[in-house]
Amino acid sequence: MLHLTPAVTAYILTLSALLGLVLGSFSNCAAWRMAHGESVAKGRSHCGACGHTLSPRELIPVVSWALQKGRCRHCGAPVSVRYPLTEGFTALAFLLIVLRYDVTLDTLQFWILTLLLLAIALVDLDTGYIPDSLVLGILLDFAVVTALRGGPFWRLWLEGIFNGAAVALPLLGLVLIMDRVLGRESMGGGDIKLIFAVGLFFHWSCNLFTLLLACLLGIAFALIFRSVRTEDGEGAFPFGPAIAAAAFLSILAAEPVVQAYLSLF
Ligand SMILES: [Zn+2]
Repeated sequence: MLHLTPAVTAYILTLSALLGLVLGSFSNCAAWRMAHGESVAKGRSHCGACGHTLSPRELIPVVSWALQKGRCRHCGAPVSVRYPLTEGFTALAFLLIVLRYDVTLDTLQFWILTLLLLAIALVDLDTGYIPDSLVLGILLDFAVVTALRGGPFWRLWLEGIFNGAAVALPLLGLVLIMDRVLGRESMGGGDIKLIFAVGLFFHWSCNLFTLLLACLLGIAFALIFRSVRTEDGEGAFPFGPAIAAAAFLSILAAEPVVQAYLSLF
C-alpha cells in the first residue's frame, strides 16, 4: 500500500508525520497532567505557570513553541523544550513505524504503543512512578488490535501472555531474590508490569533482546543523569524510560536483530 505510487507514499508519510505531531503533543500533555495530579480528560490545555488557557494558535505542535521562543505568550514563563522535542520525536517515530510495517494493523498497534510508552517515560521521569492506567492501556492496545486481526483470537492472546510472562516472571523472581539480598527494593513493580505488557507484542526471544537493551540503556541513562542531578540522594533513577526506549527500538528492529543473531549458530 505504502509504495503503490510516489504520490501515495508521500501522502501516507505526510499524514503519518502530522498525526505523530498532534498525538505526540496529546501524549505529552496527558503525561504532564498525570504527573501533576490533574484530570487527563477534563479542562482545556493551559500554561503550567499562570493557568492561562491556550488558544488554538498556541497549540500547534512545535510551531507554537518556536514562534513564542519557548515562552508562555501570557506570562513569559519558559515552556519546556520537552514539548517540541517529544512532538518531533513522535512524528519521526510514526514515520519509521509506517515505513517498517506499511498501512497495517501492526502500524496502528505500534503507534498506540509508542504514545503510551512516551507518556510512561515522561511520567516516570517526573514522578519515579509508572501509572497502572498506562500499563493497562498497553494491555488494551494488544487485546483490541489482536481482536481486530481476526483469526484465532484466544490462541493469539495466550501466545502474547506467554511471551510476556516468559521474560517478566523470571525477572520478578530475580528481583525478589535481589531485594532479599540487598535488603531494599532493587526494581519497581511498575517496571516489571511494563516489561510484561510490552512483551505481549513480540516473540519471547525478542523480549529477551528488549530486556537486555533496557538494562544497557538504564545504565547509560543513570550515568548521564547522575551527573545532572546529584541531590536526589536515593540514587534510584527511574527504569521506565529505559524500558520504554528499548521497547520502541524493539518495535523497529527486534525481529531482524534476533534473527541475525540466531543465524550465527
Ligand atoms: Zn503562562
